[in-house]
Amino acid sequence: MNASSKSAEPIQTLLQYYAGSEARVDEWRTLTRLARSLEASGGGGDLVEAQRVLRELQPIEELHAYPGPALLAHVNDRLHRGEWAAFQRLTNRISGALLTNSYREDVSAWALDDEAESALPDFAPPAQGHGQSRRPYFEVLHVAAIDKSQWGRLRATFNRLRRAEDEFVYEVVVVGSFEDAVLAAIFNHNLQAVLIGDGFPFTLGNDIPVLQKLLANHVPAEARQGDSGSALATVLKRLRPELDIFLTTDRDPASVAGSDAAAAVRRVFYGPEEPMEMHLSILDGIQDRYRTPYFDNLKHYAARPVGTFHALPIARGKSVFKSNWIRDMGEFYGTNLFLAESSATTGGLDSLLDPTGNIKDAQDLAARALGGDRSFFVTNGTSTANKIVHQAICVPGDIVLIDRDCHKSHHYGAVMCGAQPLYIDAFPIKKYSMYGSLGIRPIKEALLTLKAEGRLDKAKMLVLTNCTFDGHVANVERTMLEVLAIKPDMVFLWDEAWFGFARFSPFLRRRTAMGAVSALRRLLPSAAYREQYAKFKAEVGEIDPANKKLLDTRLWPDPDAVKLRVYETDSVHKSMSALRQGSIVVVADQEWKKVEGPFKEAFYAHTSTSPNLQIIASLDVARRQMELEGYELVGKATQLSVEIRREINRHPLISKYFHCATPAEMIPAEYRASGLEDFVAPGQSLADVVHALDTDEFFLDPSRITLLCGNAGFDGTQFKSILANEHDIQINKTSRNSVLVQININNTRSDMAHLIKALADISRGIDRRLADGGESAVKAHEARVRDLVEDVPDLPNFSHFHAAFRDNPKSKSCEGHMREAYYLAFDDANCEYLALNDPKVDERLKKGPELVSAKFVIPYPPGFPIMVPGQVISQEIITFMRKLDVKEIHGFNAARGLQLLRPDVLEAHSGSGSKGKRR
Ligand SMILES: *Cc1c(COP(=O)(O)O)cnc(C)c1O
Repeated sequence: MNASSKSAEPIQTLLQYYAGSEARVDEWRTLTRLARSLEASGGGGDLVEAQRVLRELQPIEELHAYPGPALLAHVNDRLHRGEWAAFQRLTNRISGALLTNSYREDVSAWALDDEAESALPDFAPPAQGHGQSRRPYFEVLHVAAIDKSQWGRLRATFNRLRRAEDEFVYEVVVVGSFEDAVLAAIFNHNLQAVLIGDGFPFTLGNDIPVLQKLLANHVPAEARQGDSGSALATVLKRLRPELDIFLTTDRDPASVAGSDAAAAVRRVFYGPEEPMEMHLSILDGIQDRYRTPYFDNLKHYAARPVGTFHALPIARGKSVFKSNWIRDMGEFYGTNLFLAESSATTGGLDSLLDPTGNIKDAQDLAARALGGDRSFFVTNGTSTANKIVHQAICVPGDIVLIDRDCHKSHHYGAVMCGAQPLYIDAFPIKKYSMYGSLGIRPIKEALLTLKAEGRLDKAKMLVLTNCTFDGHVANVERTMLEVLAIKPDMVFLWDEAWFGFARFSPFLRRRTAMGAVSALRRLLPSAAYREQYAKFKAEVGEIDPANKKLLDTRLWPDPDAVKLRVYETDSVHKSMSALRQGSIVVVADQEWKKVEGPFKEAFYAHTSTSPNLQIIASLDVARRQMELEGYELVGKATQLSVEIRREINRHPLISKYFHCATPAEMIPAEYRASGLEDFVAPGQSLADVVHALDTDEFFLDPSRITLLCGNAGFDGTQFKSILANEHDIQINKTSRNSVLVQININNTRSDMAHLIKALADISRGIDRRLADGGESAVKAHEARVRDLVEDVPDLPNFSHFHAAFRDNPKSKSCEGHMREAYYLAFDDANCEYLALNDPKVDERLKKGPELVSAKFVIPYPPGFPIMVPGQVISQEIITFMRKLDVKEIHGFNAARGLQLLRPDVLEAHSGSGSKGKRR
């Protein structure tokens, strides 16, 4: 196909999209529109255009089973013959089926007028189906070195293998080259399995430049050499780890099966082997992801007649359904909720506290899906998951490096385990009155300071939020490499409460904790890395804290010294289909043997002895969904986010008052080496975005949209309630002059339309109000905007702990024994109170004695503690508090004032808490 500039344009658009599937559907809709006009005009001026769109679609359609070659041939035929009405009917049917995905369950979407029915997918469930109303549909990619004229025969071979008892139904897509196989994996989200034959060429000479660019992002140069089968398996597995990959070979299958690349492969077949064997293996691979050991068993349990004599009256629902007064609860929730309730851990219901059966099994599957070595379900949210990790890793006195605006579970976790938090400030985004994330430089600075003072061995763990509430995504791999260069056995706790979905995006995966672990496990043992490290060592020498250049030098760890110890916590309920509080700890810790015991204790300490069975089941099901359709759902959500951003920022009316903060606005240039300014920009391709993902210190998660509303004259809280009360739109958090719009796997294009309409209505309202109110209204509006946009209070940095809580008050690093301060405040006699505006506050700031907070003080927004127990209160903090016009401040009672630890108490404590005594 000739890629003239005009014809390349729509596929260029495809590239601009993060998920090609939607763009493809749009193309079909265009074709349907053209078909309608052709029919109306009896073949008028749109003919050339229709031919062009169809030609554009051809290479993409060849990567999908639906509509498939037969239907497509009919479409072409009807256009060619000028059968406008028939052409219109068919394109309309295909376009509708693609839009609604009905081809996955409705055989009529596939039918040709004259086709024998047997070749069509059979969606009817097997006789003893799993209680499901239809068979799930998927597609299998077959990479074969046979002539294109034989592809139809190959597909038919597999169609004939279908059996009544199969639980799933699939269609085969045949491609003939390495490149087309990779493109199919990118564009076709229905693919679940790939059969790779022998001897196929690298390319069939597709000369479409944009597809070539896309391929360049996913196919490393080495893949062009050597054995194409295993190289393809490796590339596909990296792109979509969930795919089942099968090799078929005519050579000695044993030698292929023993090769390195075979690790990416589910099974190796000897060429002439029975196709039925392949068919069964394909279905088996799906079953392996489809099965939900805990949920399946819970359903089974619910269906059994059991008499219960344990302490759970609602189990089986008898106390509800027979009640005189609370029967509506049963009507509302339905019977299954109660039939599935039990406090038993026997009879097939495993125990979360000591899993050996189906919970263990479900946790292992979740670890596989998320890329860890093991995982643990947590039924009380990531708040608890985080505390479990703190307590499993740290002993009292250990130093935990922690970004100060991290979730409060970490601060409380540090109190509970007695670790000394070493707070490091994230970079501020002053304009929006929020914090960004924690840069690598200040982390290195803190570690080098500890090293200089001979206390680096105390630094046990580094806690980082990834991504942050506002969407700042860390460069996880680089952060770990540089930290490990200074402290080779540092434990990392990546709080990915918001980010679990990212595992299922080929773009964001590299920036998850477990994605980075796989990269490091490939990198560190490699010969190339050893060489690179030797060069680095020769240039830089030992890590010497006196060497100030280290802060601005990229550091590399000694591959022989590194112990990779990584923990990731995900609020599965925040980004996947789990019930509220469903959370998980994913572990990849080389020293797990040492942690296993303490981890178990910590798990017992924090886990209810009556964990909620439905939450556990939902974690199991959420994993199934992501392993089978995470790629599709996350791709669509990402694309939707990018579209919403673009719609709002380009809309002539809306953009007068509202704006979606771009990566350039959310991430200072020093952290964006690539120079990427926005997700979509003229002349920018996906390759540029991928480059930014690979290299920049921070990347912005497109699905977390900071919608600036200051120019509309609204503060965040005000705007949030306007959206909720007048437009039925609920948004996440607010800052002074913005709200956060979060897109996830449940959002649709109609949600987008709803939001855009609301913003347009609100903007129109402001326009009208300003026009009607005359000059005074405009002046008032401008003043309000200035107040919101320009006069933003500075966020105060962490100051330091009071000397009474420090091992060495002269130390340059700022950790402290926060737990001691926390418990001192339990006795009110140790505390004093000062009203925020009391002149004594200013006097003591100037002349002492120091003001020392007794409490965590957490204003919402920004939602992180601006004071922690034992922290010395600075002038900046007081100024910030005085300016703060939010209503919700946890830990601060405006009537009583600041709760402080009394100077005499601190004096006395300094003596008692002397070094050595405390742990
Ligand atoms: C929400 C959140 C948590 C707590 O998770 P829950 O599942 O709500 O308990 C922890 N860390 C971060 C960064 C969060 O956003």
